Amino acid sequence: HGADVLLRLRGIRAGYGDVEVLHGVDLDVRAGSILALLGANGAGKSTTCAVAAGLVVPTSGTVELAGQGDVMRDITRLSAVRRSRDGVLLAPEGRGIFPSLTIDENLAMWLRSADERARVYERFPGLAARRKVPAGSLSGGEQQQLAIAPLLVRPPRVLIADEPSLGLAPLVVEEIFRFVVELRDMGVALLLVEEKASEILTVADEVAFMSVGRVSWRGPRAEVDEARLTAAYLGIE
Ligand code: ATP
Repeated sequence: HGADVLLRLRGIRAGYGDVEVLHGVDLDVRAGSILALLGANGAGKSTTCAVAAGLVVPTSGTVELAGQGDVMRDITRLSAVRRSRDGVLLAPEGRGIFPSLTIDENLAMWLRSADERARVYERFPGLAARRKVPAGSLSGGEQQQLAIAPLLVRPPRVLIADEPSLGLAPLVVEEIFRFVVELRDMGVALLLVEEKASEILTVADEVAFMSVGRVSWRGPRAEVDEARLTAAYLGIE
């Protein structure tokens, strides 16, 4: 098991200014799999996402992306924009939409062909009914649908999402997790950060716990029980 690793972090050290916050992080993100990165506040989860996406350059260690024939290619120095072209995408913070543009115009930013937009409308009939309406007038849940819809039509190879459920209503969170599972089943490799474990654990395939800048435990979801969760959050593993 390892041939299907799409994104690989090895020995990542990174920080801000003189302060190192990651002290050697190893992670494997696999095709068709959801990896939940969990851990207490300040453990380094967001920084790990930033390194994976190319927003923070590590002081040492490597980020590798599977290329043709599963050969791993070093992308440590590749910018976030270049990485997104290679299929490594960081889910947009906030909603990533333009409120004054219509739904149709927003979709056209990502999906040039009417055919691709039609597929979005098929999947989200609520959006279809209001395609001429400014995106800013949609509910929070609908805006979320609009933001993620293009990913279903043009799935990335690797999707990194930092607390996608933060501040959203429970119904919207449910929808996002359904969507995440849909992407997983399409073969996308997903790295999802959450502060709270309860919901993400219902969809995760693998789990990694972070504690003070290190991965303290990683393994299959099935091996995560109450005792392990408690230990991870108390930092005693
Ligand atoms: P949280 O859920 O609070 O975001 P986290 O596990 O995602 O926690 P990080 O956000 O990666 O952790 O933060 C790790 C450490 O790096 C913290 O001590 C934080 O204060 C520090 N840090 C994060 N971002 C910056 C920044 N832009 N500049 C300086 N220090 C930062």
